[in-house]
Amino acid sequence: MATKRDFYEVLGVAKNASDEDIKKAYRKLAMKYHPDRNQGEDAKAKEAEAKFKEVKEAYEMLSDAQKRAAYDQHGHAGVDPNMRGGAEGFGGFGDAFGDIFGDIFGGQGRGGRGGGRQVFRGADLSYAMEITLEEAANGKDSQLRIPSWDACDTCSGTGAKPGTSAKTCSTCHGQGQVQMRQGFFSVQQTCPQCRGTGKIIPEPCGTCHGQGKVKKQKTLEVKIPAGIDDGMRIRSAGNGEPGTNGGPPGDLFIEIRLKKHSIFERDGDDLHCAVPISFTKAALGGEIDVPTLGGKAAIDIPEGTQTGKQFRLRGKGIKGVRGSYPGDLYCHITVETPVKLTEHQRKLLKEFDESLSKGGGKHQPSGESWTDKLKGFFGG
Ligand SMILES: [Zn+2]
Ligand SMILES: [Zn+2]
Repeated sequence: MATKRDFYEVLGVAKNASDEDIKKAYRKLAMKYHPDRNQGEDAKAKEAEAKFKEVKEAYEMLSDAQKRAAYDQHGHAGVDPNMRGGAEGFGGFGDAFGDIFGDIFGGQGRGGRGGGRQVFRGADLSYAMEITLEEAANGKDSQLRIPSWDACDTCSGTGAKPGTSAKTCSTCHGQGQVQMRQGFFSVQQTCPQCRGTGKIIPEPCGTCHGQGKVKKQKTLEVKIPAGIDDGMRIRSAGNGEPGTNGGPPGDLFIEIRLKKHSIFERDGDDLHCAVPISFTKAALGGEIDVPTLGGKAAIDIPEGTQTGKQFRLRGKGIKGVRGSYPGDLYCHITVETPVKLTEHQRKLLKEFDESLSKGGGKHQPSGESWTDKLKGFFGG
């Protein structure tokens, strides 16, 4: 802070200058260095911008009777919050200057590592991961490419162009917050100049554009637990975006999306699958193979099995993330009507049909009740 110029010197006025003189001097200099009149990216524009800020700060201090008094008495330490450490020795200083300073000093305990500046937790990131049913059932070690932020090598994380340095924000004096006075009230809000960081970088680093950090990719090892289901989220603490002013990073959430399976449909820990069988197999019965996640299994189809019949294979479902037992596999039978018959097959079926009709409907399990229902419906 030793390099900070005297406010009176900045405005080019005497120590005993009147309020009016201070105002005049400020207007003149502000016009001269105003960013609107000094546009461009060159050194001259940068210098004008820095001067403009310096002038503005000096005026803000000297145009306020309380701040001017503090400055006259204690110099920069009286008004510069970066000098807070020494301010305690002044005793009763906060009280003497009312709410403006009172709040600044009162806020000393707040914000932890960030000093008095506003500390923000980083944003959470979310990532959707599509996995197969098999992966969900068995678990999976997965690698994720996620964005990460590293301190910028060019500026060593300061955000300032090498050879230059960040300056304390003159609007909020490094607090990151400003007092907006509305009548009797003073409202604290994030400094619009530095957006709460408390620092202004006159010449930003070209690599990170003043961010002090660069976005990179990193590989994250993620363990997908066995039994995980569609829509479940895995939290990876601290792998979200970095915080501001030393605030903690956010978390990364991995949301699981289950790919559609060609055979199985999942319902919690249970699995369902459709099993088509020929009508002769359905009529005669016999053993058939059915698929399970662990390979083939055999089930015995009894004689005269109908479409819609379910067979439950205990324990052939999925063991949930918190489950102790695996669910079941339900095989739903559909009896298929044969198609593309040869002449010979047609003949056989006709003969077969004739023999069935001699049985008087007893070969159709729902035949009689169906005929009765129709009679009732037509009033016959
Ligand atoms: Zn600021
Ligand atoms: Zn940089």
